[in-house]
Amino acid sequence: VVDVQLRSGESVNCGLLVNAAGPRATAVAAMAGLHLPVEPRRRYTFVVQIAEPLDRPLPLTIDPSGVHVRTDGGAYIAGCAPDHDPAVDYEDFTWIDRDIWEEKVWPVLANRIPAFERVKVLSKWTGHYAHNTLDRNMIIGPHHEVENFMFANGFSGHGMQQAPAVGRGVSEKITYGDYRTLDLSPLGYERIPAARPFAETAVI
Ligand SMILES: Cc1cc2nc3c(=O)[nH]c(=O)nc-3n(C[C@H](O)[C@H](O)[C@H](O)COP(=O)(O)OP(=O)(O)OC[C@H]3O[C@@H](n4cnc5c(N)ncnc54)[C@H](O)[C@@H]3O)c2cc1C
Repeated sequence: VVDVQLRSGESVNCGLLVNAAGPRATAVAAMAGLHLPVEPRRRYTFVVQIAEPLDRPLPLTIDPSGVHVRTDGGAYIAGCAPDHDPAVDYEDFTWIDRDIWEEKVWPVLANRIPAFERVKVLSKWTGHYAHNTLDRNMIIGPHHEVENFMFANGFSGHGMQQAPAVGRGVSEKITYGDYRTLDLSPLGYERIPAARPFAETAVI
């Protein structure tokens, strides 16, 4: 990789490129002719208020069904994965699972936490997971052939909590040519062409 082209048409030279394009990571990798098994998958979030708030903040609480909820300011946010979970277009934020609140999220919440029986949905939105179809785990570090193309991709819905380690790992790899704090090499790109999954099972 010798340069990147901006939308304005301007080119920027680079000694090294980090792909940190989230759900669009595959499109950015393709610009360099590289394959990445990462696709956008819809996830739904509901912001809800309950008639009688709990007497303490609720940390992220996950039911075995995958329905999750936590305190968010004066309200709660809840969600789950849809049962039918195809890859979608990068710009596709349409709401297709209209009844997922009534049929899945609310019944599970009310069963586990009775205070959620009397609840009002304040708002809702759709976002995209950057879903790694090989093993639902991050892909980090340089491409094994195009060595100045660095990945930080495929977080599959848990990139926020991994972000500090990813930032440090990428900066160590760039600065020292190796990981110093945590050895992130099992999460490297090499496992993709080798079809060698390093599976993350705790994904909601
Ligand atoms: C509903 C939902 C709930 C989530 N909950 C959690 C959670 O509880 N805990 C957790 O750890 N994670 C959670 N995640 C996942 C977390 O949000 C992501 O893993 C994380 O944000 C990924 O960060 P990123 O920097 O890789 O990508 P992003 O935050 O998506 O950033 C990518 C950036 O690249 C830019 N970009 C893309 N293409 C180009 C291009 N060609 N040129 C220039 N810029 C480009 C985009 O505009 C964007 O700014 C959730 C995700 C969703 C959708």
